[in-house]
Formats: sequence, structure tokens, C-alpha cells
Amino acid sequence: MNPLLEVQGLIKYYPVGSRFSAQRRTLRAVDGIDLTVQPGETLGLVGESGCGKSTTVRLIMRLLEPTAGRILFDGQDMSSMSSAQLKVVRRRMQIVFQDPFASLNPRKTAGRIIADPLAIHRIGSAAERRSRVQDLLERVGLDRTHAERYPHEFSGGQRQRISIARALACSPQLIVADEPVSALDVSIQAQVLNLLQELQRDLALTMIFISHDLSVVQYVSDRIAVMYLGKIVELGPSQAIYYHPQHPYTRSLLSAIPLPDPTRREAIPPLESELPSPMNVPSGCRFHPRCPLATERCRHESPELRPVGTTLVACHNV
Ligand code: ADP
Ligand code: MG
Repeated sequence: MNPLLEVQGLIKYYPVGSRFSAQRRTLRAVDGIDLTVQPGETLGLVGESGCGKSTTVRLIMRLLEPTAGRILFDGQDMSSMSSAQLKVVRRRMQIVFQDPFASLNPRKTAGRIIADPLAIHRIGSAAERRSRVQDLLERVGLDRTHAERYPHEFSGGQRQRISIARALACSPQLIVADEPVSALDVSIQAQVLNLLQELQRDLALTMIFISHDLSVVQYVSDRIAVMYLGKIVELGPSQAIYYHPQHPYTRSLLSAIPLPDPTRREAIPPLESELPSPMNVPSGCRFHPRCPLATERCRHESPELRPVGTTLVACHNV
């Protein structure tokens, strides 16, 4: 099967500091990422805050221009598309943001918010849009009558359901969910995750799901990509990453999660030091200053992703 999405050598650098100052430096937000997403699969993207997850998906959605790299959607290179072609592709990929308070316009009713993408793309008559909005409200577990209400009348979980309904309005193929449950109470998180999973299955959606929490990502993903300072350090089937992680960084992320699996590899203690700045990326393996397994080689030589068992791992020592 051809991938729905293919990302090749994706890079996003930001110049920081004054234009006139000698202090001008480069912030490497995304530093060379390759990914494929198959139709119908959920790919999880996990890593500490600041490692480049949101930048990666904003580049994929073309909300940001890449510094380098190619993004192919359904085999078509997005950088060579006309604005008319881009508009069509944008309809086929939709994003759900983390903060359901900031991402919904407080002056519009839920019905207007969900119908907006239909109006923008001139889909259906006004009456057809109204009936589509009602169907979508029910699809995400809300009530038809909720169309008349304003965002402040809903709870955080309900608002996230409205964001999901809006994302579904134009029947997209790809949904990008950028930390969709991170702002919600723990008791509500599972409900929203279950809804996303149900939709993914029923509508044969392809999904990229982001979280800084590996147990949340594992719950919904078929495959998981682990990011560290702008790069993917481990990529593989969800089960393998969760139960038998290879990369020392993934192993340290997992050590915070208690698992009753005796076959699990020896845990690496959770990281205490902070993520280095992407303005000052360490030499060699960028994880080496925090890695308990680091050797001299790791200081000089950047490891490439290579197959180890069922996963790809960028580490000299596994
Ligand atoms: P994540 O979503 O994993 O928390 P982000 O992709 O938001 O990480 O950010 C990655 C890095 O890029 C961070 O260090 C962030 O401060 C930096 N960054 C993001 N957007 C910009 C920008 N517009 N200008 C400069 N730096 C940015
Ligand atoms: Mg983010």
C-alpha cells in the first residue's frame, strides 16, 4: 500500500537574536525527520515538551514553511502545489489543537464553529450544513441542541469534542491531534481518547497523535515515533516501543510508568536534567550528555536510525 503521507529530510530552523547582533544564532526545532504514515493507521509522536512535535505537524499541515525537506501527501509533493491544489489538500488533512479554550472562537455558537470549514470550502447548502452539523454533534457524543450554545457553556471535554467535530466536518483523510487530551482532567482524558479511537476505526481515518506522555500515545497508536531534540530516535510498533524499548531515552521515559511485565528490559532511571536548548544541540549523539550508557564514540558520532528487532533505533550502544 502506498503511504498517505511521506516526510523526507524535514528541517525547520529559526534564526534567533537581533538581525544586527553578532549573537545571532540558529534554533534547530526540527532537524531532519523521515516518516511515513500508512492509510488507516495511527502514528504516535512522543517526546518531552520542546522537542519539536508541534513544529513537525505544523510543517506537515503546511501551516509553516520548512527550511528543507519534502512532504508528499498521497504521493504528491506539497511544495510544488499551486494554491488551488493546496486548498484541496488542506481539506483532506485537519488538526485538533491542545487547548480547547483557545482554539474555539468564543463569539460563535458550536454550530457555526463546526459549519465553518464547510462554508469555507463551499460544501452543501445552508440547510445541508445544518443537518451535517447535527450529525457531527451526535457523532462526537454531544446533543443536536448543543449547536445553539456558545463555547463557554461547555466543559473542557465537550469543547474538545466540538474541535473534533469541526475537524471531521469536511470528511478528511488525515487527522492530526496535537496533545488533544493534555489540557483535560485525567478523568475526562480516557473518554476523549476512546472517542478518537472509535472515529478512527469507523471512518477509516489516518491519524497522527501527539503527546508528551508515552502511556497516552501507546493507548491509541499502531506505531510510535520517539522524538528527541528535533530528531526521531526510535520508531516502531506501539507494543514493541512500550514493552521492549531499545533506545536509552525511550527506556527513561518508560521508567516513570509502572508495568507488571517481567520480560521488560532493565529500566533506566527517569531523566532529571533538563532538555538541552535546540539553540545549542550537543555534538555527536544529541542525547549523550543525559545518557547513562554514553561512551566516547557518542560524543563525536551522530547515530543513524537502524533496525534492531522490530524497531528502528538511533543509538551506538544497543
Ligand atoms: P513541542 O511541541 O514538542 O513541545 P515545539 O515544536 O513547539 O515543541 O517547539 C520546538 C522548539 O522550537 C522549542 O524550543 C520552541 O521554543 C522552538 N520554537 C517553536 N516555534 C518557534 C518560533 N516561531 N520561533 C523560534 N523558536 C520556535
Ligand atoms: Mg507542542
